[in-house]
Amino acid sequence: MEKPRKRPAIPLNVQCELWARAAGRCQFRGCNRLLYKDELTQQRSNLGVISHIVSFSPDGPRGHPVRSKQLEIDIRNLMLTCRDHGKLIDDKAQVSAYLEELLLDFKHEHERRVRLATAHAEDMQTQVLILQVSVDGHDVIIDPVDAHRAIQPKFPVDENPTVIDLSGSRLPAEGEGFFALMERSITQQIQDVLSRRAGVTRASSLSVFAIAPIPLLVHTGRCLGDAQRIELYQRHRDTQSWTWKEDEEAQAFYEIVRVAEQATTERPVVLVFSISGLVSHELVAQTVGAEPCIYEIRAREPGRDFLRSRKRLELFSYEVRNAVVALRDAHYARKVIHVFAAIPAPMAIEFGRHIKSLDTPFIIYEYENSKHAYVPALRINID
Ligand SMILES: [Zn+2]
Repeated sequence: MEKPRKRPAIPLNVQCELWARAAGRCQFRGCNRLLYKDELTQQRSNLGVISHIVSFSPDGPRGHPVRSKQLEIDIRNLMLTCRDHGKLIDDKAQVSAYLEELLLDFKHEHERRVRLATAHAEDMQTQVLILQVSVDGHDVIIDPVDAHRAIQPKFPVDENPTVIDLSGSRLPAEGEGFFALMERSITQQIQDVLSRRAGVTRASSLSVFAIAPIPLLVHTGRCLGDAQRIELYQRHRDTQSWTWKEDEEAQAFYEIVRVAEQATTERPVVLVFSISGLVSHELVAQTVGAEPCIYEIRAREPGRDFLRSRKRLELFSYEVRNAVVALRDAHYARKVIHVFAAIPAPMAIEFGRHIKSLDTPFIIYEYENSKHAYVPALRINID
């Protein structure tokens, strides 16, 4: 009788691949034991063995006169197991219970599960959405090339971004007729975008590049809602680039200013955002026609270049959430909240996303340069 064949050395690249496919766990069905350290003591140790499905020896477990030699270092014939299960499947007394097909099932099942569980790395694709609406009667154009540059290191889902272009409107960019028309059009087009996304099994994030009057940005935020994964961008005034600047540590970027907190029936309720500039309380009072209760989120250093980092947007979002909750709780009588905002586009959209689910009535004002006055432009939750 021939001497039993010696176990062949498994090449290192094959060993590495097998460990990777198994994610370092025993591939015996139901075991899943971690094999590079002891799970109880956390001590590192190689607890795994590489087992042959078809033995390397024709006389061994599931051995074959020809295939044993062919498959001896073939990854498709190798299983990573713990020592107990390596021993079990090669036990002469048990071998009839562990036929080749069954062990292949164990292996495939395990490797598939690992692949699925680890497939969801950070999604590197994003859908680029461009929204452009005339501001102060001037058309605006957002260059898709700039947008694609700004999303890096992510990649656009489509070669061409989704564009909502309302910049060529012949209507004078003033008055409520303009806003009502733009509002309807934005609602419709964003609904289209969202319903197309709803049909995609794993929708990527949505990267939004928008230039529009503030009330329409707020409205856009409402339409987008808070269910989507959204990344917001803005054109930085100094560099003219849409790429976010390097992120920074969280600081007290904002202060909350409250005027006449005591709610009375006569006092109008006002929410003010002084971020890209200071909103004049005097002008606000003139506009609403009485001494208002004011809740103001104010940048500690307001200015048109204030929104330098994503961190500033994130903390603004937190402050806005607090503000809308505080105002709702303080004015349960469903009083209208008048909103005066000097803010960059991403903040206006973010605000809109937060008021999505509230039934509080809001009026968003637009500052009209030609009139040097605020005019009501967008009504939310008001019939
Ligand atoms: Zn095991």
